[in-house]
Amino acid sequence: MSLSQGKSSSRKPVFVLVGGTGDLAMRMLWPSLAMLLQDGFIDEGLRLVSVAREKVDTEEVRSRVIDALKKRVGKDLEHGTADRLVKGLTHLALDASDPDWGKKLKAELGDIDQLDVVYFLSVSPTLFKPICEQLRTAGLSNAPNRVIIEKPIGRDLDSSKVINDSVGHAFDEARTFRIDHYLGKETVQNLLALRFGNAIFEPLWTSRSIDHVQISISETVGVGDRLGYYDEYGALRDMLQNHLMQLLCLLAMEPPASLQADALRDEKVKVLRSLKPIRADNCFLTTARGQYGQGFAEGHAVAGYLAEKGGPSDTETFVAVKAEIDNWRWAGTPFYLRTGKCLPTRTTEISIQFKAVPHSIFGNEAKANRLVIRLQPEEDIALSLMNKSPGLTSDGMHLTQLDLSLSLDAVFDANGTKKPRRRIAYERLILDALNGNNAQFVRRDEVEAAWMWVDGIVKAWQTSGMKPQPYAAGSNGPTNAQLLLERDGRFWND
Ligand code: NAP
Repeated sequence: MSLSQGKSSSRKPVFVLVGGTGDLAMRMLWPSLAMLLQDGFIDEGLRLVSVAREKVDTEEVRSRVIDALKKRVGKDLEHGTADRLVKGLTHLALDASDPDWGKKLKAELGDIDQLDVVYFLSVSPTLFKPICEQLRTAGLSNAPNRVIIEKPIGRDLDSSKVINDSVGHAFDEARTFRIDHYLGKETVQNLLALRFGNAIFEPLWTSRSIDHVQISISETVGVGDRLGYYDEYGALRDMLQNHLMQLLCLLAMEPPASLQADALRDEKVKVLRSLKPIRADNCFLTTARGQYGQGFAEGHAVAGYLAEKGGPSDTETFVAVKAEIDNWRWAGTPFYLRTGKCLPTRTTEISIQFKAVPHSIFGNEAKANRLVIRLQPEEDIALSLMNKSPGLTSDGMHLTQLDLSLSLDAVFDANGTKKPRRRIAYERLILDALNGNNAQFVRRDEVEAAWMWVDGIVKAWQTSGMKPQPYAAGSNGPTNAQLLLERDGRFWND
């Protein structure tokens, strides 16, 4: 069953965006749908339904969506796309916590047996349960209808189970699409191509050749207007439990038998289940917590997290963890994960540090190879290799480190063709959900295995009394994060 172009279904496709007037909808979701329409991936006939409590008419929401598209997509928005998108859009002012919500939605949608509906719940997770219950009791959740939900899927294992149970009561696992938008990024998809489309990497992709791996997501902004939410979650739950752990899985998993959803997800979950637990007696050596204080970020003075909150808080705005995978492939090769706010640069980078040559005939000039996969600010893959320094010297041969770059920019500049537009990560994921393909979505057991490991870290911090260490806004984070690597004789690739 599919809502997208080229698939046969006698049912009429509908995309219901609950939270259609919210921030995520305006910045990411409507723009993604517009781009899919512009590029011919979805049909103009796709019916779009926005749901929110605000009593505004459809014309007002259409005009907000058009403004949002101009802002988000800019020059890539072709003349006519916005009008074509909103032509099929209706806004329903309904409160999803109203006990009659499901019935009202059903009345608006029409004969559900003639429809093929994807619901995107872009609302607080506290509403997932009542929304799914109502969809079920109103008969709106039967196959082939599907649901897309966003992080956070709970704030620990128990609360994630409550959410998964209530969603699962209405939609079976195959029709539940848990989004981690990192999985929709081009370079993250390219990780699969790089690892499993090239025979040269596989023999090297083990602890025999790789010294360690670093995965960093750094943000220059502070918590801003998300403080209420963020103070309950912190960097560990907000970023590490989902985005960083998904990247870890893609890097560390065994080759899947195919690109089928369960083949991929089976391998990812095995990685999560092989993670060595972090306990109170080792958390000081395997984790670092930080909280930004006064300083400068993005050229502006920052008062600091506690001042912004106006009270005490033990919430970390920075976390670094040494993740060890207890299996044959990775024993002895740690994966260092790091994320934080109010850091000097906005980057997402994976750095795979190979081991040094076993015996150097070039003194200390032979540096170990490194494969760097950048997701932000630019998407780029570079493998550092040692080369002979060019020219003639009287004191023997010298070496220079050069990058073998897979930068798409460079490729397109070189052959003079127009570089493809950088897509919004949600475009690919929405298209997959429309087509019923959940390979790039997170399965329930993955979410729960990730929470199980993260809950262990939270418990270790609580039991040991490990509090966040202050760091100045605009600095590289707390000193403990540097020590985490220095203790192992390593350094962050900054
Ligand atoms: P938001 O700006 O607060 O928008 C929430 C939307 O839900 C609004 O359209 C709101 O409109 C609607 N809504 C709230 N209560 C409702 C109810 N009872 N019935 C029907 N509609 C209701 O939130 P957001 O930032 O877009 O985030 C949405 C979800 O995505 C959250 O779960 C968030 O954690 C997650 N998320 C957001 C981002 C992001 O970048 N924004 C990133 C990752 C994950 P009314 O107030 O008019 O009802």
